[in-house]
Amino acid sequence: MALIVQKFGGSSVANAERLMNVAQRVIETYRQGNQVVVVLSAQGDTTDELIEKAMEIDEKPSKREMDMLLSTGEQISIALLAMAIGKLGCKAVSLTGQQIGIHTDSFHTHARIEKIDGERVRAELDAGRIVIAAGFQGINRHGDITTLGRGGSDTTAVALAAALQADLCEIYTDVDGVYTADPRIVPNARKLKDISFDEMLELASLGARVLNNRSVELAKKYSVNMVVRSSLNDHDGTLIKEVAEMEKMMIKGVAYDKDIARISIIAVRDIPGVAFKIFKLLADKDINVDIIIQSIGRGDTKDISFTIARNQLTDAVDLINKNLDYIGAREVNFTHDVAKVSIVGAGMANHPGVAADMFEALAKADINIHMISTSEIKISCLVRWDEAEKAVQAIHEKFELGRAAEE
Ligand code: ADP
Ligand code: ASP
Ligand code: MG
Repeated sequence: MALIVQKFGGSSVANAERLMNVAQRVIETYRQGNQVVVVLSAQGDTTDELIEKAMEIDEKPSKREMDMLLSTGEQISIALLAMAIGKLGCKAVSLTGQQIGIHTDSFHTHARIEKIDGERVRAELDAGRIVIAAGFQGINRHGDITTLGRGGSDTTAVALAAALQADLCEIYTDVDGVYTADPRIVPNARKLKDISFDEMLELASLGARVLNNRSVELAKKYSVNMVVRSSLNDHDGTLIKEVAEMEKMMIKGVAYDKDIARISIIAVRDIPGVAFKIFKLLADKDINVDIIIQSIGRGDTKDISFTIARNQLTDAVDLINKNLDYIGAREVNFTHDVAKVSIVGAGMANHPGVAADMFEALAKADINIHMISTSEIKISCLVRWDEAEKAVQAIHEKFELGRAAEE
């Protein structure tokens, strides 16, 4: 008997009809003789709507209370699916993060899973029930509800698969798998038959929201067999695995991220230890910094610019403003008007022409590059916010990603 974890995203459980469709799929897997743990997101745009409700009350709400609020979305969908499965004649039980025993740290709104007690889930499975787990949520050591950050249900699914030593973790979503670019932006994007954990991790971290990056990190760490597929058809999907089969093309995909912001710290003293002070302050507040650029010193000062997630902008700017004297800087400025566009593919370091090709694609599309960062497996460019989609299309076209040999 195999143990299968199936995760369904918000659009897959958006209404009663979709929920009944999910119930049928789950029952089918169960009737084939498998134990099934289902992980659900909140229905449709529920999480966004809950955030809006909070913003009507306070633009900077307590993060603890945000978690209390946001976790309700998943509680609704799991109860409804358990009812749907019951109605179709099978036994199911819905469980919250607390009931499952998903223990996290205390970074409200972006907590990390520390440990999962598998006993309750195992007992329910052994009693012949289908377990419906709330995604995205856990509890901290004070017993308070935490959430794992946007898209965190993927992480719940992989973490449960790892903890229960499941045979397979299936991520069901509203597209057929992982594509060379977001198929909603690039109509001729190509579905990948498989992709390596490392490449998927980069794509996810660089904005391809089809999978949450932490879920991929966990899947790699615990060797979880993972597949992304559609909840609306039976197409094969994309396998995420240790090393993908060699394909001719080197670039796996293009991703973009509009949820970022750029901060510049102006006229920083040009002496040792300044970068350390800035980034230590940010790290201590769990603020993740991405692309960093430091200008060449002019006289005895220089500027340091970096990008961060947009939802951490206020915290970061407040923190730096409070510490301008300590850092030894004149002022801080910031902008939302940026997006990051990236290409991902293993072995990029050995192909010097790739960066030039990417820049040529952007130049021909008349898109200005504000910052660049490269690594062994990716190249990222910061562009204007409203040019992100155009940039993705131009780069996808330039590397002919849609035209590579069919699977
Ligand atoms: P779910 O609610 O199922 O978690 P998400 O909206 O989080 O779904 O993720 C699926 C979406 O990810 C797709 O609808 C697609 O627009 C987007 N996406 C972005 N990049 C990619 C990509 N490279 N391949 C597939 N989908 C992508
Ligand atoms: N409902 C949460 C969100 O919208 C978690 C998830 O969908 O994975 O981010
Ligand atoms: Mg998602």
